Amino acid sequence: MAKIQAIRGMNDILPEQTPVWQFVESTVRQVLRSYGYQEIRMPVVEQTDLFKRSIGEVTDIVEKEMYTFEDRNGDSLTLRPEGTAGCVRAAEEHGLLFNQTRRLWYMGPMFRHERPQKGRYRQFHQIGVECFGMEGPDIDAELLILTARLWQALGLVEHTRLEINTIGTSESRKRYRDALVTYLSDFREKLDSDSQRRLETNPLRILDSKSPETQAILEGAPTLDDYLDDESRAHFSKLRALLDAAGVTYTVNSRLVRGLDYYGKTVFEWVTESLGAQGTVCAGGRYDGLVEQLGGKPTVAVGFAMGLERLILLLETLGLVPDSVNGDADVYVTAMGDKAVAAAQALGERVRTGIPGSVVVTHCGGGSFKSQMKRADRSGASVALLLGDNEIEAGTVGVKPLRADDPQQDVAQSNLLEVLKELLDR
Ligand code: ATP
Ligand code: MG
Repeated sequence: MAKIQAIRGMNDILPEQTPVWQFVESTVRQVLRSYGYQEIRMPVVEQTDLFKRSIGEVTDIVEKEMYTFEDRNGDSLTLRPEGTAGCVRAAEEHGLLFNQTRRLWYMGPMFRHERPQKGRYRQFHQIGVECFGMEGPDIDAELLILTARLWQALGLVEHTRLEINTIGTSESRKRYRDALVTYLSDFREKLDSDSQRRLETNPLRILDSKSPETQAILEGAPTLDDYLDDESRAHFSKLRALLDAAGVTYTVNSRLVRGLDYYGKTVFEWVTESLGAQGTVCAGGRYDGLVEQLGGKPTVAVGFAMGLERLILLLETLGLVPDSVNGDADVYVTAMGDKAVAAAQALGERVRTGIPGSVVVTHCGGGSFKSQMKRADRSGASVALLLGDNEIEAGTVGVKPLRADDPQQDVAQSNLLEVLKELLDR
């Protein structure tokens, strides 16, 4: 019978890869905690309408990327393509936004039916950060300062670049949209087919087109800059001043728009040149209207989402995965003979308690001394503890360094922790 395989674009993350994931996840967690952000966890499935009403009916995501299905009750449900909508839904539903500010984050899988390629998958993972109830550019700046700190912690400072823009209020975007459509209509036949379609539905997204012909036409197009309202302009210049003061470097990209309808004012992307076309590792902006649009009290908001696969690909591509992130054991405990099994397990417990954070693998499944040593070697441990009838009788344990030339020694069990600590350099 043919073996069942994973769904195209949905990856298994194998044991060799999980240490890098854990490294990135724990670094992000730690950075976010140091700024006082709180974790929230939402379901992976939501009502389809939530995404239609927030992301927008004529966006790529809603038009052609969502995994939407009817459940057994006939309700239309969707695997979340992003986290902001669900986060707003949850925060509103549980009164988290009532007369207070919030700094929230979440991490988990998202689902989009896109053409799988390097850095683009159908199940992928995002870390999302959402801040509510803070109007000023100070919180926008904080988000960018904390992401800059994260790149520092991950060793990616030299490989990421920040682009920012302001896309104004919906009124200024509307005036700009009209001007853009008037301009582009003269070139209609020369636009790529997606852009032709967007001319009717979502003209701002044409700015984002990957087609060189369309980009050439856009060279002469009016820019949003000329249509901006004063408030958005002031917000943006204060944000720039805050970033300058914090030493966060950026470029202003007046073509930068986002693919989701709910953004306004500040938008930004952290991009890298090292991943080809899938170069955006983190993207976000303000979405002051979304909470109200989803039925809540008017509540300003700003956030971003970071693609974990792309971050990890970047670390791997650049060879920046730290050596300590290899998932290796520190100590491997072998056990020769029946009596040794219980003693080895007890010894393992003692080491785990006595050297917090140490990774101790106790041999299971019997076998010859040679085969146990083979497994010890494969575990990556730097020290093997050898336990047999002789050692048990003598109250000792054989300590054998596996990665250094130091000789094997017999150590009194009462001295073991001290000797081990030295060997493990803790
Ligand atoms: P792109 O222009 O690359 O399609 P997007 O604008 O659709 O990105 P967002 O919806 O803003 O992306 O999601 C934020 C981040 O999530 C992206 O910058 C990227 O790092 C990651 N991401 C988005 N879609 C995918 C995907 N299909 N596979 C892997 N990562 C993704
Ligand atoms: Mg996309």
